[in-house]
Amino acid sequence: MRLSRYFLPILKETPKEAEIVSHRLMLRAGMIRQESAGIYAWLPLGLRVLRKIERIVEEEQNRSGAVQLLMPTIQAADLWRESGRYDAYGKEMLRITDRHEREMLYGPTNEEMITEIFRAYIRSYKDLPLNLYHIQWKFRDEVRPRFGIMRGREFLMKDAYSFDTDKEAARHAYNRMFVAYLRTFDRMGLKAIPMRADTGPIGGDMSHEFIILASTGESEVFCSKDILDLPIPGADTDFASDLTPIVEAWTTPYAATDEMHDEAAFNQVAEDRKVSARGIEVGHIFYFGTKYSEPMNAKVTLSDGSEAVVHMGSYGIGVSRLLGAIIEAHHDDEGIVWPASVAPFHVGLINLKPGDAATDEACADFYRQLENAGIEVLYDDEDTRAGAKFATMDLIGLPWQLIVGPRGLKDGVVELKNRRSGERVSLSPQEAINRLI
Ligand code: ATP
Ligand code: MG
Ligand code: MG
Ligand code: MG
Repeated sequence: MRLSRYFLPILKETPKEAEIVSHRLMLRAGMIRQESAGIYAWLPLGLRVLRKIERIVEEEQNRSGAVQLLMPTIQAADLWRESGRYDAYGKEMLRITDRHEREMLYGPTNEEMITEIFRAYIRSYKDLPLNLYHIQWKFRDEVRPRFGIMRGREFLMKDAYSFDTDKEAARHAYNRMFVAYLRTFDRMGLKAIPMRADTGPIGGDMSHEFIILASTGESEVFCSKDILDLPIPGADTDFASDLTPIVEAWTTPYAATDEMHDEAAFNQVAEDRKVSARGIEVGHIFYFGTKYSEPMNAKVTLSDGSEAVVHMGSYGIGVSRLLGAIIEAHHDDEGIVWPASVAPFHVGLINLKPGDAATDEACADFYRQLENAGIEVLYDDEDTRAGAKFATMDLIGLPWQLIVGPRGLKDGVVELKNRRSGERVSLSPQEAINRLI
């Protein structure tokens, strides 16, 4: 992509309304624009990152055996009357009336709709286990939308729903999601800690929030440092096998959100291993048994001919919130420092002297070679000061900057800068290409 043909509305001034660094940086880097309170337009650079995050979420959901579909954003109120949640959900639900005076709503979540789809098609235990997910916009009329896309009113969520014949089978489904989440967040450069979370009236130990430690987080959390050193399950994890040992290892060290915090248990943790901090909830997994399948009559026939109400779980990831969480974890004074896996482009190619024939030609050559190798390049071909170019590239945080100017070219070299370490090395054009491909 050539910067001269792109749309990257960088802000020079720090926006006053932004209270936390990720929100400031997203606005300054031209990634999002607020259209109403808690409702954002995704500008090209922001959208590229959002799509990268989605892709990782999809890959790990698919790997764990979940199957993707897509449900609509608008739902019928009647569906929610069946579960009894239409009135219970309260003011966070955006209610809409269509031209025929039918009551509709903008979905804040999809338990009812997925249960309706399930019961329309599935009759037999032979079709289980089943886990269906989608990545779709949600709307919750939050009392206090804030921190940009971190707590939006419209936000993108991945929500998966598992169906099993009994609680034991549902536990396996839960474990698969648990492990998939560990891998998902790790691939984005995040240390997400599964913490015991409130299960409500269902009880039991099957609800975890996945939390990123950050001083700007809205939740108060407590854990033992032991959980920070555990290994992430590999890509070769067999999701058909019993994942209990992995889940046990990850649920043994103390880790709880404030609602579930148990001071006495926390005091068993050695003083120098105690972490009491703030965190960002990026995911939440939950077993809720027959809470929706019972009132909505979602049943299967078992092998002995009897019928069973299916046991369900739901598993959310805040896809759009993750952008904020990743920036909170990866930035410095100059701007964002993207982990390569979610970076909007891999390389920023900086032409220090557009109009200089040799420089233009060298840049065009780099651009072609990198693009041909499948590497995403943002080529700054604009006629602006070098200082401004460097500042913009640092702000938007691409992993590599390839700096090409007439002086270096005369000596047969270009510069390659690593955004994270700040290290700049002079290399021949061929060496630079070899490092990037
Ligand atoms: P929170 O405690 O932050 O309000 P929640 O517990 O209400 O979140 P869930 O119903 O568990 O949210 O939804 C699953 C995930 O969706 C959350 O873990 C979070 O990452 C994301 N999410 C929830 N609300 C928002 C929001 N208003 N803006 C952005 N992401 C959100
Ligand atoms: Mg909430
Ligand atoms: Mg919560
Ligand atoms: Mg939650």
